[in-house]
Amino acid sequence: MKTALVIGGGFAGCAAAHQLQLQGGWDTTVVEAAPFLGAGVRTQYYGGHPYTFGPRHFLTPWPHVYEFLNTYVPMRRCADHQFLTYVSDDEQFYGYPIHADDIPTMPEANQIENELSAVNMSAIQRLDNQKLAEMTRKDVRNLNNASLATNFEDFWINSIGETLYRKFVDKYSRKMWQIDDNKQIDDFTWSPKGVTVKEGGRAAWDTAISAYPIAFNGYDDYFKIATEDAKVHLATRITDYDIPNKTVVIDGEKRTFDIIVNTISPDHLFEQCHGELPYVGRDLHTIVLPVEFALPEDVYFIYFAGDEKFTRITEYKKFTLHKAPTTLITLEIPSMTSKYYPMPIESEKAKAQKYFDEMPDGVFSVGRAGSYLYNVDIDDTLDHAMKVAADLKS
Ligand SMILES: Cc1cc2nc3c(=O)[nH]c(=O)nc-3n(C[C@H](O)[C@H](O)[C@H](O)COP(=O)(O)OP(=O)(O)OC[C@H]3O[C@@H](n4cnc5c(N)ncnc54)[C@H](O)[C@@H]3O)c2cc1C
Repeated sequence: MKTALVIGGGFAGCAAAHQLQLQGGWDTTVVEAAPFLGAGVRTQYYGGHPYTFGPRHFLTPWPHVYEFLNTYVPMRRCADHQFLTYVSDDEQFYGYPIHADDIPTMPEANQIENELSAVNMSAIQRLDNQKLAEMTRKDVRNLNNASLATNFEDFWINSIGETLYRKFVDKYSRKMWQIDDNKQIDDFTWSPKGVTVKEGGRAAWDTAISAYPIAFNGYDDYFKIATEDAKVHLATRITDYDIPNKTVVIDGEKRTFDIIVNTISPDHLFEQCHGELPYVGRDLHTIVLPVEFALPEDVYFIYFAGDEKFTRITEYKKFTLHKAPTTLITLEIPSMTSKYYPMPIESEKAKAQKYFDEMPDGVFSVGRAGSYLYNVDIDDTLDHAMKVAADLKS
């Protein structure tokens, strides 16, 4: 049997162990620092309410990934729901993504319309007539110069103008990333592209599959199923890494593996020899309220785009359908005490690449921290694991 080491037992690590199990012929060891598998996706309980660390609902454009998970953890599709953003200066809740129908209700409606026309006109002027003739009217209306931007602030101002940027994006993003200036962010491939003012339906994700496990314990059964055949070391950290030789020390024992699937920050595997990779973390506050529901029926989250310390509140019952006369909400507060969000900064991504370049054949680095990419969600971790399995097969 070939041997595999999976570093980290979050969703990515469990999904990788699962793929090896399905493939067969692997003797898999999973090493997880926490005393449980699943990391923030594991269900916790407060006041009798199940919840996870942040919403963690399953959102994917890929039906095959949804069907895969649904086979092991039966899922319930979420009803159409919209996200709201609270803008304290306006004392109003608006739809998010920014919705065209909300603009007339904003205090600076005329100015915003002028700014939107200006970003659109300047983009049209850049096109030659041939290209313009080939575009649909909707494409032309949504044209902007976002693709020319070199930083996050320019990207948004070129997309939606200064006023909408200040209202929805500026403070939120600085709070989210714990930075003074949004120009520091120069990778915005994860940000909505092109159409940043939404028209039509108000459902937040009208083309993606949005779902949550039916079971009271959420995704937890998956972590067990996925690692059934693996040797799982909980509350354990690898003490020495020799990645070029695929050799590590686990519980004082030196072991060499045929392959390694890493899901933790790659700098840890190389004693940070190219420097530390920065992240932003989160604190989560749980609050039970003495009402059956706190948010309107079709609202699962609310974002807060101003000076509030928190970025988002979530009402868990909307996903879990837990029945109780009370409701649980959480407040998410960005902090530097944990490491959840890789920074979307090109120089940091280049630093991460130096670590990837040091990894020999047979070492895969996947998942959110493992790939050092902010926009890796639960569905992506499953996709990464499937790709590793396909790679091993070929
Ligand atoms: C607040 C928040 C809300 C989110 N909401 C959603 C959502 O609604 N929908 C969605 O699809 N995605 C969401 N995500 C993203 C998604 O949940 C994650 O991208 C995904 O779960 C990442 O899984 P992972 O295994 O790559 O990383 P992690 O979950 O970070 O797992 C890494 C594991 O490695 C372990 N570890 C770390 N260091 C070591 C070490 N030295 N030795 C051994 N083990 C170690 C950790 O304890 C952890 O268990 C959210 C993320 C956050 C932070």
